[in-house]
Amino acid sequence: NGFIRLGLAPELIRAVEDLGFTQPTSVQDQVIPMAMDNSAEGESSRFIDLMVSSQTGSGKTAAFLLPVLHTLLQLQAESDERERAEEKRLADEATARGEPAPKRKRRNPTDPRNFKAATPGALVLCPTRELAQQVAHDAIDLVRHCKGLRIANVVGGMPYQLQIARLQNANLVVATPGRLLDLQRSQQIKLDQVKFLVVDEADRMLDLGFADDLAEVNQLTIERHQTMMFSATFAPRIQQLASRVMREPQKVQI
Ligand code: AMP
Repeated sequence: NGFIRLGLAPELIRAVEDLGFTQPTSVQDQVIPMAMDNSAEGESSRFIDLMVSSQTGSGKTAAFLLPVLHTLLQLQAESDERERAEEKRLADEATARGEPAPKRKRRNPTDPRNFKAATPGALVLCPTRELAQQVAHDAIDLVRHCKGLRIANVVGGMPYQLQIARLQNANLVVATPGRLLDLQRSQQIKLDQVKFLVVDEADRMLDLGFADDLAEVNQLTIERHQTMMFSATFAPRIQQLASRVMREPQKVQI
């Protein structure tokens, strides 16, 4: 399988195989290795920002989802490791005092009384509800072998309670900007843990008047390590938007 040499996690390779993808498309071949490269100069956790011109049908969705999911898996493995170490430390301390190891408290995550603000690590913004649903659907297909990676879709028209329930523990949120900011203002979602931001179909985003919403998301995602913007063209207004949300992006023209 041609995806193996891109360095993706085995769980993701398996999903790609399940989907019947044998070779990366041109945009996937170019974008995936660049997006996974975290050697951007300066800070240790900085990835390269990317501005990609590509059309629907080129395989662009997997080109941004695969590297983001790959990195989320890595972050999750690191945080699991820290949690295990902390549990072991507490258990060792208890043993030293001659006490039984403390039991981990488990809350029922489906009980609305236990709902807390979602803090996703990655966010994909789409101009329309239909596109957001399609992207979320593709993401769900790609995480089928990833234990504990959860995808949520945030779009207008879905009942709030259902949306909030689905957001619990989401690692990657696929959203339209309006509904996302509604949920952010009502503190159902916090964007300060978002490390990866993808703006899909940026040209349509501008056509639909989302420039200010994008600027707001840009301000709220203070922990961001990477931004990727996909657009049919690099028209001047797209470049202008790019300069507001990205730092020295690398351009990929398909
Ligand atoms: P997109 O450009 O993301 O809308 O993708 C267009 C279609 O191509 C979708 O139906 C994908 O499932 C499919 N696709 C994406 N990547 C590949 C691949 N490497 N091989 C075969 N089909 C693919």
